[in-house]
Amino acid sequence: MTVYAPLDHARRVADVQDMLPLGNGCDALLFTDLVDVRWLTGFTGSNGWAVLTGADLVLGTDGRYGDRARAETASSGATVIAETSRARLHERLIGSLRRAARVGFDPTSTTHAEWQRLAADVALEPTDSVVARQRLIKDAAEIERMSAAAAAADAALAEVEPILFAASDTAVTEADVRNELEYRMRLHGADDRSYETIVASGPEHAARPHHEATHRAIGDGDTVIIDVGALVDGYHSDMTRSYVIGEPTRQQREIYALVEAAHGAGIAGLRHGISARDLDSICRDVFVEAGYGDWYLHGTGHGVGLVIHESPFHSQASEETIHAGNVVTVEPGLYRVGFGGFRIEDLLVVTETGSQPLTHTAPRPFPG
Ligand code: ZN
Ligand code: ZN
Repeated sequence: MTVYAPLDHARRVADVQDMLPLGNGCDALLFTDLVDVRWLTGFTGSNGWAVLTGADLVLGTDGRYGDRARAETASSGATVIAETSRARLHERLIGSLRRAARVGFDPTSTTHAEWQRLAADVALEPTDSVVARQRLIKDAAEIERMSAAAAAADAALAEVEPILFAASDTAVTEADVRNELEYRMRLHGADDRSYETIVASGPEHAARPHHEATHRAIGDGDTVIIDVGALVDGYHSDMTRSYVIGEPTRQQREIYALVEAAHGAGIAGLRHGISARDLDSICRDVFVEAGYGDWYLHGTGHGVGLVIHESPFHSQASEETIHAGNVVTVEPGLYRVGFGGFRIEDLLVVTETGSQPLTHTAPRPFPG
């Protein structure tokens, strides 16, 4: 098993503590989003909360997770409370929060029921999750994991492409290709797939950006979209490559060239400080100018980390800015029922002056 550089939870805790008290007077933060809890403490269980004050960090979870929580959170310095009784765990949470004058909670992850149970005893203030914002800037240890995830997908795809190109002679189905990719990613060091691998073929399935693989046999003349990512120590990767089975038609070559041009323009434009909307426009304009604007059915990409789709989201509706240290996709595509579709997606670390790719599979759309 590969050993990765340790995640520096103590530094993350100290960085967030340095922001306390917040401008709205909160001197404690309650985290109920399990991804935030994981990022801050290291705890990977399916049930828990964290309370951070200027002086300490408390992780609460149910009795099943006691040992595991203490092991996983050791580097964060968290005090672990593990209680089998839900009522008792709630009392301990109230006990942790009562010392604070005002507690910031994340209104997008704290349920109304949880809020009601706490509101009688604690002064609560809805607060943007400080951790959700911190999470968007990846450090070297996080990028190492995402790079390993991307490498597992690269290696699996390199092994599966010959199977795909032989599809018209061998009755290979979308599901066969998906199964091979997911198995081989694990052989190449992934803990799991990142999301259900998309293998979309032919005039209808490849026209759907998020098709789930079926038992359709891939055949001569099909366009094929493969969107594949791996999971390593909680971190995701995301990549798409597109293909034509057999000799491509002139239209297939033209549409593919447009997607390639949009993808190249997007990557050339990606850098610290660009707005997510402008990045989307760079790709979208290539399609609009060629008369294919209505074949583009989604935004140009998204952030990736402990969550496969996270901020920033590159779309015309976005008001976000892309920053150095973000890990994002660039993934323009064109789709039309009757034709099929193409998408090219890479995963990149944003830098001050540009970006560095984490996915390295060279696009090889046509056989030969
Ligand atoms: Zn993808
Ligand atoms: Zn994506």
